[in-house]
Amino acid sequence: MKPHQQILIVEDDEAISRLLQLAFGQLGHKTLLAKDRQSALRELQTRSPDIILLDLGLPDGDGKELIKTIRSQLSVPIIIVSARNNEQEIIAALDAGADDYVTKPFSTNELLARVRSTQRRFMILQTSDALITCNDITIDVEQLSVHKGDTLMKLTPTEFNLLKYLMLHRNQVLPHTKILKEVWGIGYQHEMQYLRTYINALRKKIEISTTSPKYIQTELGIGYRFVCTGN
Ligand code: CA
Repeated sequence: MKPHQQILIVEDDEAISRLLQLAFGQLGHKTLLAKDRQSALRELQTRSPDIILLDLGLPDGDGKELIKTIRSQLSVPIIIVSARNNEQEIIAALDAGADDYVTKPFSTNELLARVRSTQRRFMILQTSDALITCNDITIDVEQLSVHKGDTLMKLTPTEFNLLKYLMLHRNQVLPHTKILKEVWGIGYQHEMQYLRTYINALRKKIEISTTSPKYIQTELGIGYRFVCTGN
């Protein structure tokens, strides 16, 4: 995480917001606090935080509505920190535009790791680099080629687009519907069989073992997560 970041914490539970303030403060970051949606929106009118941590159960309504409002104006990373842990809630929050989801109770280290990986992903999305790399996999966006180590991989255009999308959104829980919408387009959100077929095909090409994949991991009932270690 870059030094001196500004973190907006939207949380009505004081014990949790204090814990977060302390954790980020110790790392030299500045925290802004909002106890409800109204005060979060007020903060956003005058400040521009580098990341937003958002609780869903807020005194003046559901945090999901706030995600949509923020997303219509800003591209700041949003991480949900919520006690709600059912699949439907997680998918709805990610579909509304949240970037990641951490369930309470959480470990501070895990949360910090999620914040770091979300920010790394945003940095990659902002660079115009033609090369996207993760461990031994490199894709060249201009040449439409994929290398694993020194070996050139043969991928179909859809496999290429899917891999590119997964690598750009590395270490992030991606709901099935979101991947289908982003890679195949609106109207394909429920074509689960397409996605399963292409994920299997990609795994055969990039994974050493398709039964215990290292890169494309299944998030049961929700979707997939492309795991990158090191970068
Ligand atoms: Ca709450």
